[in-house]
Amino acid sequence: MLTVNENFLKLPGNYLFSEISKRISAYKAEHPEKSIIPLSIGDATRPLSPAVVAAMHKAVDEMGTTEGFRGYGPEQGYAFLRETIRDKVYSPLGVDISADEIFISDGAKSDCGNIGDIFGSNNVVAVCDPVYPVYVDTNAMAGRAGEYDGTRWTDIVYMPCNEKNGFMPELPVRTPDIIYLCFPNNPTGAAATKSQLKLWVDYAVKNGALILFDAAYEAYISEEGIPHSIYEIDGAKECAIEFRSFSKTAGFTGTRCAYTIVPEDLKFGGASLNKLWNRRQCTKFNGVPYVVQRAAEAVYSEQGMKEAREIIDYYMNNARVIRNGLKNAGLTVYGGINSPYVWVKTPGGVDSWSFFDKLLKEAGVAVTPGVGFGPEGEGFIRRTGFGDAEQPKQAVERVTRII
Ligand SMILES: *Cc1c(COP(=O)(O)O)cnc(C)c1O
Repeated sequence: MLTVNENFLKLPGNYLFSEISKRISAYKAEHPEKSIIPLSIGDATRPLSPAVVAAMHKAVDEMGTTEGFRGYGPEQGYAFLRETIRDKVYSPLGVDISADEIFISDGAKSDCGNIGDIFGSNNVVAVCDPVYPVYVDTNAMAGRAGEYDGTRWTDIVYMPCNEKNGFMPELPVRTPDIIYLCFPNNPTGAAATKSQLKLWVDYAVKNGALILFDAAYEAYISEEGIPHSIYEIDGAKECAIEFRSFSKTAGFTGTRCAYTIVPEDLKFGGASLNKLWNRRQCTKFNGVPYVVQRAAEAVYSEQGMKEAREIIDYYMNNARVIRNGLKNAGLTVYGGINSPYVWVKTPGGVDSWSFFDKLLKEAGVAVTPGVGFGPEGEGFIRRTGFGDAEQPKQAVERVTRII
């Protein structure tokens, strides 16, 4: 008889977002007259930009002709997109990444999860707490997390990120083999400086560990001196894989396109991670649609870059309104400068869910309880800059009234 992957049975339910929508629906049912401002969205809301739409239309028309039709494309992505990324993303940073080190995919979420296929099951995994849940759950599915004790996984190394350490993880006591880092961070909004990242690169090189660097929000960096890529740090090509996505940078959350950098220099036990990932992708993945890759390419045209910048500025303006408004209301806020996420400390030390309920019921504002991203997120809520520009202003007014 069939047996299932028992690791899946150990996973806790996806409690966070179902619980949020349950509480919002219950409140709406009781108070149908009240409007709820959603500041919990972790999804793009602005439409695809004109340059992207034009490129997609053109590609669709090509596909409808005998000469322009494309069937299966290269699993790694078309050369036109890989070379554009090399020239428009990495060259300007002074980073030498070859097209063969760039793998186009349908999402950073899938890549962050799928990359585990090429690692042994005995590796020790370290994550930040709070954390984007994908890193933890995918390792739990692969049997690298141990048992879930109701709060944490027994074999995962958790690196607390809190006010005391400025939301920067400290080098862990137990040495991990795989280290997930995400900067600018979801959910805390923290961004790492070059010297902070250098510490991790040196640590990984010294310990023979691999860093999985999630740079999904690099386009939101507004301050000088914050690296956009981990490869801006010397030595990173020997110890780091980088994940990037068009989702938050160009509104591709529904269109789906991302890329992962696996440098040729990544060699562990004589094996090349670039070769292993290539083998994995060629076996299990048949590439991103041609139309979507042309759309992604258009993000790097002069017009496309200008339009993408406008969308990011729009969200960042929302984040700024939230950040400054809540600060003026007397709350302690973090993030919102190099990231669309604002991490807000609950007033009076109340727990995340109590403050969530208060904001929902008294102010009609929906947020995300910080504790949902890990125990260290207790006492915080996350708000995002995604959404309509009118919403943050109204939300700040409403919250100010009840604080
Ligand atoms: C949104 C997000 C991504 C992007 O995921 P896609 O699958 O490319 O849409 C990756 N990492 C983090 C932390 C995110 O918040």
